[in-house]
Amino acid sequence: MEIKKNIDLKDYLTMKIGGKAAYLVDITNKNDVVDVMNWVEEHQMKFFVLGGGSNTLAKDEGFDGIIIHNMIKGIEKTDEDSISATYRVGAGEVLDHFIHFTIQHDLSGMEAMSMIPGTIGATPVQNVGAYGQEIADTFVELTAYDTLTKAFVTLSKKDLHFSYRNSVLKHEAWGRYIICDVTVRLHKSSPKPPFYAQVQQLLDKQHVRDYTPQVIREAVIQIRTNKLPDPHLIPNSGSFFKNSVITTDQLNELNKEFPDLKGFVVDEKHVKISTGWLIDQSGLKGQKIGHMRVHDKNALVLTNVDAQSYHDLASAREIIKAKVFERFGITIEQEVLEIA
Ligand SMILES: Cc1cc2nc3c(=O)[nH]c(=O)nc-3n(C[C@H](O)[C@H](O)[C@H](O)COP(=O)(O)OP(=O)(O)OC[C@H]3O[C@@H](n4cnc5c(N)ncnc54)[C@H](O)[C@@H]3O)c2cc1C
Repeated sequence: MEIKKNIDLKDYLTMKIGGKAAYLVDITNKNDVVDVMNWVEEHQMKFFVLGGGSNTLAKDEGFDGIIIHNMIKGIEKTDEDSISATYRVGAGEVLDHFIHFTIQHDLSGMEAMSMIPGTIGATPVQNVGAYGQEIADTFVELTAYDTLTKAFVTLSKKDLHFSYRNSVLKHEAWGRYIICDVTVRLHKSSPKPPFYAQVQQLLDKQHVRDYTPQVIREAVIQIRTNKLPDPHLIPNSGSFFKNSVITTDQLNELNKEFPDLKGFVVDEKHVKISTGWLIDQSGLKGQKIGHMRVHDKNALVLTNVDAQSYHDLASAREIIKAKVFERFGITIEQEVLEIA
């Protein structure tokens, strides 16, 4: 285990922005986790666990601590019966590589999550998902190092309180656990309709009736390729803003002027509305704002055109927030987490 010094964080983040980390270590097994946490304690150092950096930003001042870069690999079958196969997957495995592996083994359950960037270890943090599937559907348990109790623990689905793009790991337990592996149960049966509307439409257009994990994966890849910028080519962090929660009264008021604005019930008094729609209706979709651009196919995504600093990103973010507020009186919020 080599502790590197003075590392450019932008090389580890898909937004390609951010200052330097004082230290960074690649961890490849559980012993490394114990060793690095002993080092952290000895040096009274802050730490931050990083996977693929596709949902994380760093400020220009960087991070005055150690980045624990999770590179724990390995795919191991732990159980199998006539209907399912269970795998324990190293947290540092690339999610899409593992999904490709499941397809090769004709297993279903994660195919609609194809092409989501990042590592499998990060998936439970925000209950990653897309096109009708989320990690909670196949998740069995995870092994993590609990930095509070200084012991390895097993956390089950019940412990994580998964909800839409959310779990305890994103809130009260954020930064507490270093996830080492994630266990998922995949199905031997074919994926069954109803599929997500856009996926079904594409399958119908292609006259596909034999629904295999492979055809669903191909459909999802086709849809995503058309809608989302590839972070390898155009730096970005996926959905930059959260969808917005407003009161039902606010929605009723807004609907007088914007009858197209739809609300999805959150509770008796609140609805969730599309922040992408708000940004689009503020005239910002596809627009270059300073050194950043609102993606032309998905206004929730902010891409880095030629920004050199977090400051460039923050300036564009504040302009977008101000324009949306000016038009709708709604304060939109950033979704992407920051190293702190
Ligand atoms: C183009 C694009 C499209 C995207 N589409 C989707 C989508 O459709 N659906 C979706 O849900 N997300 C999407 N995302 C967001 C992102 O891919 C996911 O959030 C993904 O899980 C992040 O994985 P990562 O390894 O890059 O995590 P990182 O950015 O490295 O980390 C994210 C968070 O998880 C924590 N973390 C990471 N690994 C561990 C670990 N081993 N132990 C403990 N904590 C850890 C980090 O501390 C951080 O808080 C997209 C992003 C991009 C750039």
